[in-house]
Amino acid sequence: MDLKGLWQAVLGELEISISRANFATWFKHTAIVSSVDGHVVIAVPNIFTKEWLEKKYHRDITTALEKVSNGKVAVEYKIGEAAVVTMETPAVEAAPEQMPARAAAVEPAAGSLNAKYTFDNYVVGSSNELAYAACQAVAKHPGSKYNPLFLYGGVGLGKTHLMQAVGNEICRGDSSKRVEYVTSEGFTNEFLSSLARKRTDTFAGKYRKIDVLIVDDIQFLANKERTVEEFFHTFNTLHQANKQIIISSDKPPQAIAGLEERLKSRFASGMMADISAPDLETRSAILQRKAQVQGQILPPEVVDFLARTFSSNIRELEGALIKLLAHCELYNVEPTLVVAKTLLGGLNGRGSRPRSLTAKLVLERVAAYFDLRVIDLTGAKRDREIVTPRQIAMYLMRQELDLSYPKIAATVGGRDHTTAIHSVNKIERQLERDEHLRSEMASLKERIYA
Ligand code: ADP
Ligand code: MG
Repeated sequence: MDLKGLWQAVLGELEISISRANFATWFKHTAIVSSVDGHVVIAVPNIFTKEWLEKKYHRDITTALEKVSNGKVAVEYKIGEAAVVTMETPAVEAAPEQMPARAAAVEPAAGSLNAKYTFDNYVVGSSNELAYAACQAVAKHPGSKYNPLFLYGGVGLGKTHLMQAVGNEICRGDSSKRVEYVTSEGFTNEFLSSLARKRTDTFAGKYRKIDVLIVDDIQFLANKERTVEEFFHTFNTLHQANKQIIISSDKPPQAIAGLEERLKSRFASGMMADISAPDLETRSAILQRKAQVQGQILPPEVVDFLARTFSSNIRELEGALIKLLAHCELYNVEPTLVVAKTLLGGLNGRGSRPRSLTAKLVLERVAAYFDLRVIDLTGAKRDREIVTPRQIAMYLMRQELDLSYPKIAATVGGRDHTTAIHSVNKIERQLERDEHLRSEMASLKERIYA
């Protein structure tokens, strides 16, 4: 990763903890200008910013840098030219690999869209090819073919990326098209505040005038009656006028609890496509692609290690890569397998999740997930409905907690350690072939950390 990429990653961290206004004020026109052995120099536009960063944000910046690079750093601020990198530069990510002729496509996208999400940088595999094809068709013929388009799948599997790619593609083809991307929370907040200000007609007017409406994570509309009602009308108006509607959710329409039937059947009336967890090959391709965008080529064994370690969530996979590249940039080392393992080995896709997980909790949550009791898992029964959950529990103890095989075997009812080895291996192999198990594992992981 180059210095720009590194600073982007740090800004990404900081953005979460600092208010929007402050972030925009103090981090505009800042950049890392050099980084040698953990000594990082940040360029700032003026003395005022320098003092402010030193006084107010020094600790945050240092922490974020250390988090991103996984090592100690000493930070210094210098007044100087830094116009190249600012925080609103999605183009930085895509720029290095764009052909000059295509550069125009990387311009900041219209309003609510993020230009970094394109079809170009979306890797297609068996887990997402249907969704991808549907999105492409919609981008080519908005409003006519698949309407609404409903995408569903687990966290971090590329739903937002694909929907935004559709929006970006449509805007690129015809800049007069009004494309609105909104999360269901955004929609809710906007609606409620228009209600409070008695400006619902303005709100309705805005939403009913657009050409393409993209609503992300619709499951969060569940149980919000008034917003759902408003959304329902918006939906109908747009749909009747042959305007394109694209919706995403973590589950298929019928499985969203707390959403009225008439809306679910509307969603199901168009095209539905699911995105499942990608297989090893796709994960490797994604990694190579992302590394390439950063101007890096990773050794195959490093790609393989990362792709195997982070298997159920592409966001985590990407996070691991960013961490690795940032570390290598800061300490001037090559991204070898040893470096990758030292840095990320113990993480196993845990990312920044809390570490309060215990073997007991794994047993409890796995049992609950499969509608079993803990004593079923630790007991002697060998029915199929019990054996697989038991093996999954062992796999999770290994993967998420790094427990030794004897310890795992002991936890699951005092079994032999070879049983634990066999179980973990079996689940690992099965995960490679079995899409259903992969998505089940992803939701299980969400639950055990919930
Ligand atoms: P979701 O909305 O399903 O939770 P996102 O669209 O936010 O997931 O994807 C998480 C991250 O993974 C994003 O940075 C996205 O660019 C990346 N990503 C997901 N799928 C792919 C893919 N097939 N190719 C390239 N990047 C991907
Ligand atoms: Mg999303």
